[in-house]
Amino acid sequence: MSIIEITGVKKHFTKDIHALKHVDLSVEQGEMIALIGPSGSGKSTLMRHISGLTLADKHSDSSIKVLGNTIQQKGKLDSNIRTSRAQIGNVFQQFNLVSRLSVLTNVMIGGLSRIPTYRSLLGWFTAEEKHMALEALERVGLKNVALQRASELSGGQQQRVAIARALMQKAKVILADEPIASLDPESSRIVMQLLKDINEKDGITVVVTLHQVDYAQKYCQRAVALQNGEVFFDQKIQHLDEEQLAALYGVQQGPSP
Ligand code: ADP
Ligand code: MG
Repeated sequence: MSIIEITGVKKHFTKDIHALKHVDLSVEQGEMIALIGPSGSGKSTLMRHISGLTLADKHSDSSIKVLGNTIQQKGKLDSNIRTSRAQIGNVFQQFNLVSRLSVLTNVMIGGLSRIPTYRSLLGWFTAEEKHMALEALERVGLKNVALQRASELSGGQQQRVAIARALMQKAKVILADEPIASLDPESSRIVMQLLKDINEKDGITVVVTLHQVDYAQKYCQRAVALQNGEVFFDQKIQHLDEEQLAALYGVQQGPSP
């Protein structure tokens, strides 16, 4: 079953900035996909379309569905967007935690609606919510730092908290936009392995953007490459073609010696 179904998405930010030319893409349930391609190719823009944070061009014949629910169609957000968004966990390059709050509170907030409620602003959570958040933190190996402030954690740890927040949310899909771009190699490996574990053991579908291909090759099953706002190739990881990869990143191949 397709868990993400994208058809005919076009996006102009201005008359001259045509970020997505025409994108069709479907992601099957349980896949872990890397969205790769050079900087400016449209990866983040496409991810934001899936979350309903950016709207496709008006009057385009576009549609995006997640788990069968429409997110947006013809450049208009669906009226049930809050229900659909609740199924999608977002992980960002800059972690997006509330730095002055504890790790535990950051995770508990993940289980609430995106609109801050009176209850969450006051920091009132139920024992059940606390239990679930501790479980999510245990899953990412950070139960021992639950009561520290988020700002005290390393970048790699903060990214694991962001993943715990998506688990707390019971997301069916995780969209991770450059989750390792700010991390050192060791933390990058830990974060990618964690995403892979969650994909394999919890059956959560993962779409991760990576601007380099080596982590995609190690952790993902399929690579979808964007170039200039279009899908340049869409291949199983084991069939990645070196020439196409070189062409994707604009590497000039010199004459053979
Ligand atoms: P990537 O994530 O692959 O680096 P982006 O999706 O961020 O690429 O950007 C695709 C293109 O859209 C780029 O030319 C970028 O400058 C442009 N772009 C992205 N967001 C905006 C925005 N909010 N306003 C104007 N142009 C944007
Ligand atoms: Mg980007």
